[in-house]
Amino acid sequence: MNERRHITVEGIVQGVGFRPFVYGLAKQNGLAGFVLNDTTGVTIELEGEPPALESFLTYLREQPPPLARIENVDCRDIPPKGEADFNIVRSQGEEERSVLISPDTPTCGDCLAELFAPDDRRYRYPFINCTNCGPRFTIIKDVPYDRERTTMERFKMCADCSREYHDPRNRRFHAEPNACPQCGPRVRLLDGRGRQTSDGDAIAQAAELLRQGFVLAVKGLGGYHLACNALDHDTVRRLRAKKHREDKPFAVMAANLKAVNQLCYLTDEEERLLCSYGRPIVLLRKRENIRIAEAVAPAHRYLGLMLPYTPLHHLLLADAGVPLVMTSGNLSEEPIAYKDDDALSRLGEIAEYFLVHDREIHMRCDDSVARAIGKQELLIRRSRGYAPQPISVSVPFVRPVLACGAHLKSTFCLGKERHAFISHHIGDLENYETWDSFVKGIEHFKNLFAIEPAVIAYDLHPEYLSTKYAAGVSGLTKIGVQHHHAHVASCMAEHGLEGPVIGVGFDGLGYGGDGTIWGGEFLVAKLSGYERRAHLRYLPLVGGDRAIREPWRMAVSYLRDALGKDPFSLGLPGWDVISEKKIEIVTSMMQRRLNTVQTSSCGRLFDAVASILGLRHEANYEGQAAIELEMAALEGISESYTFEISADSPWEIDMRPAIEHLVREVKMGSPIGSMAAKFHNTLVPAIVEICRRLRETDGLNIVCLTGGTFQNVYLLERVVPALRNSGFEVYLNRKVPTNDGGIAFGQATVANAILQWGG
Ligand code: ZN
Ligand code: ZN
Ligand code: FE
Repeated sequence: MNERRHITVEGIVQGVGFRPFVYGLAKQNGLAGFVLNDTTGVTIELEGEPPALESFLTYLREQPPPLARIENVDCRDIPPKGEADFNIVRSQGEEERSVLISPDTPTCGDCLAELFAPDDRRYRYPFINCTNCGPRFTIIKDVPYDRERTTMERFKMCADCSREYHDPRNRRFHAEPNACPQCGPRVRLLDGRGRQTSDGDAIAQAAELLRQGFVLAVKGLGGYHLACNALDHDTVRRLRAKKHREDKPFAVMAANLKAVNQLCYLTDEEERLLCSYGRPIVLLRKRENIRIAEAVAPAHRYLGLMLPYTPLHHLLLADAGVPLVMTSGNLSEEPIAYKDDDALSRLGEIAEYFLVHDREIHMRCDDSVARAIGKQELLIRRSRGYAPQPISVSVPFVRPVLACGAHLKSTFCLGKERHAFISHHIGDLENYETWDSFVKGIEHFKNLFAIEPAVIAYDLHPEYLSTKYAAGVSGLTKIGVQHHHAHVASCMAEHGLEGPVIGVGFDGLGYGGDGTIWGGEFLVAKLSGYERRAHLRYLPLVGGDRAIREPWRMAVSYLRDALGKDPFSLGLPGWDVISEKKIEIVTSMMQRRLNTVQTSSCGRLFDAVASILGLRHEANYEGQAAIELEMAALEGISESYTFEISADSPWEIDMRPAIEHLVREVKMGSPIGSMAAKFHNTLVPAIVEICRRLRETDGLNIVCLTGGTFQNVYLLERVVPALRNSGFEVYLNRKVPTNDGGIAFGQATVANAILQWGG
């Protein structure tokens, strides 16, 4: 007796070869019926004998196609229709939309083999792809995911491609971006003014130009890169000067793992990360005496490496035969260029040639950045290759939430039911372009995932543009979320913790809501609320944003606080670059409380120490002083400085004894590496001690370490084991960045908890 089942499958099931997989599986099992894409995922109707139906379902659940992520399978009996054949039916349009969209996916092994096979019809074709690989998120304009709703719409498939596309046994069956040299997008090589240089093999020519020392703008998957030979010192320096990027490290793309291994040390976890579907830039420890130009990552022990993730990259790297700098196509901190006209006008001053193509990028998406600690990954930037894959939450959203994030490294987050959709990296909300892509990005996500938010969550900082966005929206319930509470919540929600926990929020700056700026915080936190129980001692931050660009200002604060003197009267070496006059001005502003706020920021403590050591008085990118202090810290040093903890609650961690000791050592001429290590080591017992006290007072044993400071691997490698040795359960952000890129996710979960349980 035949039976018939109606099956719906939810998750990432479109654009990943799901229908041909279902088709093949149905045929194998001798089943009739159909499969189609709709706005909630994939719907299947199957008719046949019960054992065949069961074996179909088991296989579907256990061995789906490699890129598919099944979240839910729903199955019910319906009356048989006596059908004999199995078909793939056209997508069905509107209804409720809740289909998940795959991130862009790196070139698969099968496509790669064809790409380099001289007798293949797609030999050296830079847009080769199949249902297991290729562009997705960056080319999708609307759902359901079909070619006519992507930027591939304008390319009409040739007869050969069309045959593959319609053949359920073919790897390119319904591969929406399917294309070949006859019918698909093409690359062109242009000079700096946008004129085509010649008709030959544009990629081979571009590779030759790169070898000769030219800077090229290369149109990639989510935007333009600026590329040059990473071994060529002069070119890398020239790129830095033109891009107005003084010291911030450039990412490097290497042809394969072997090439990466020649430049950097690689652990198994790092290797796994490099090769993962996200293909992030991975921060790896540099080998000694490598040929990479020093200017790629000045004063860094690490290099940001990535592997090619599009066929174009594979060809370019193979032809160039050298590792390439592949840095975002922009001027200093602007958003990366992804539209051709914009790229030509904005990058024309920097790039001598342009390698472009005519497949439009619909969504700008920067490269993701990750690093490994032990056997786990830490995401520093979650973007291309990850977005828009949602994060599942254990507390479902009671109402749809939009969270606006912070200000730097901005992302937004839309929460609905079990899913938190975190946007790609938007950037620093400081100029019109970023603001514009923030606003448009929100609309795009709302449409793609059919989420109409009822609630809007935002940071308490009144000057953040994200806060102003929230203020300007009407008709939604508004929930302000304290910055460090959002950090802690982001870590809790990732791990399904409902609290209370001990939340350690260490970062640069976050609005406290009490007129001070926080950043060295110990919270006893639930998702719906928190108590601030300890923090770093308050110090004056003079001059607002300038204090962030000029770490010496915090050094002056710390020195006056600890020793009552300024760097000159202390006779600190290396301070001749800052005039005595400037220091006097800052001191007097501090005394008169002019443009001065109190801060408990840990990032600013790192600034102060980096400056006192003479390592960095002025920063030209965010977090530079702290990063260089970490880079300077020597391994194998176990000593630390002393600190005190105030008697009253909230407890204050007082670093004055440490600063005093540090100054003595600086004057004695101690090596910077050992002082940097000892400073880091001092934070470890300070954190452990406060957590111990909170365990005593509140009976808590779970610690969430979160905030930008915890990108610091030297610190993590010491503080995590120290806490575990003291019996704590320790959690770090894994799926969302621990920096402000994770704030939106935290805000969304806090807002939801407040809706559910009250604040
Ligand atoms: Zn493929
Ligand atoms: Zn074709
Ligand atoms: Fe922060």
